Amino acid sequence: MDKNDLILIAGAGGFIGGHLTAELLRKGFKKLRAIDQKPLDEWYQRFPEIENRQADLKEKLACEEACKGARYVFNLAADMGGMGFIETHKADCMLSVLINTQLLLASAKYNIERFFFSSSACVYAAEKQHSPQIIALREEDAYPAMPEDGYGWEKLFSERMCRHFREDYGLKTRMARYHNVYGPYGTYQGGREKAPAALCRKIIEAKLSGDHRIQIWGDGEQTRSFMYIDDCLFGTQAIMNSDILEPINLGSSELVSINQLVSIIESIADIRVKRDYQLDAPLGVRGRNSDNTLIKKKLGWEPSISLKVGLERTYRWIYDQMTTPVAALT
Ligand code: NAD
Repeated sequence: MDKNDLILIAGAGGFIGGHLTAELLRKGFKKLRAIDQKPLDEWYQRFPEIENRQADLKEKLACEEACKGARYVFNLAADMGGMGFIETHKADCMLSVLINTQLLLASAKYNIERFFFSSSACVYAAEKQHSPQIIALREEDAYPAMPEDGYGWEKLFSERMCRHFREDYGLKTRMARYHNVYGPYGTYQGGREKAPAALCRKIIEAKLSGDHRIQIWGDGEQTRSFMYIDDCLFGTQAIMNSDILEPINLGSSELVSINQLVSIIESIADIRVKRDYQLDAPLGVRGRNSDNTLIKKKLGWEPSISLKVGLERTYRWIYDQMTTPVAALT
């Protein structure tokens, strides 16, 4: 990407979009257009030196205004959250299809050079994820299709839209299937938070209150892999700049159970918690990991920041948010 070209970051008020904006600025890209539907004062990260806009990118006109004059588009906008959110907001999750569709149409209209779509490991067929000792998911495991209901179907459909816009209209689309991304400047409360941030918050609450009981969804033996945000940013840009045409896994292959995740955070917090297992809570699949054979072959790289290092930074940020008066944080 040329540093003089205008780059659109859709969903810039969110967790990954905010970090990507910061990263591009650090690298010397100055012509950035950051857009999110949230009011500007609710964005996790905002930079006054660039163009910041509040707009609903489900709307055709908003997408056209967003793409006009731009050369590259990163679509990180979606109505999403952790399992608690996506299991109870399937229609809302599927409506994100409007964002990607309108952005693709506007990108084709305004001759965008490259378009990045943030897909998800939720596209993978549920039947391949019944065991905690999961065999890591390869890209071809998304078919025959039976993804996560709602959110996963939208991602799979949108991947195909990206593919067909490339085939039929010549728009250079790139797609990454993110596997659980975590880090500072993201959601840790309110219902959309994912496991790493939610567990950090619960353990901090236990530490601050002295009541060491915390609720854990399920029996804690379900497994996942979690990718630290810095790896996500590197992989996102590498995939955008690559010749990888099909959706590719972007995730850590360090598999952990939720119980192991709790143990790592306990050691960072220097406390032991009493685990109260909520067996009727939303769980998602039993086990999921990223097979990184393809990304290693294509990029000679895979995410490698350890959970211990990433969680330490995430925990510190959440701790500061929870203990510092609001006025001092702004
Ligand atoms: P996030 O919720 O923090 O950010 C998404 C942003 O999109 C939010 O700020 C939201 O306000 C914005 N948005 C939603 N609807 C919009 C609309 N109509 N118009 C404009 N903006 C809108 O989520 P995130 O973690 O930063 O995720 C970014 C992308 O990566 C999403 O597409 C998500 O599905 C995908 N993804 C994330 C993860 C993860 O673990 N964080 C995993 C897989 C895929």
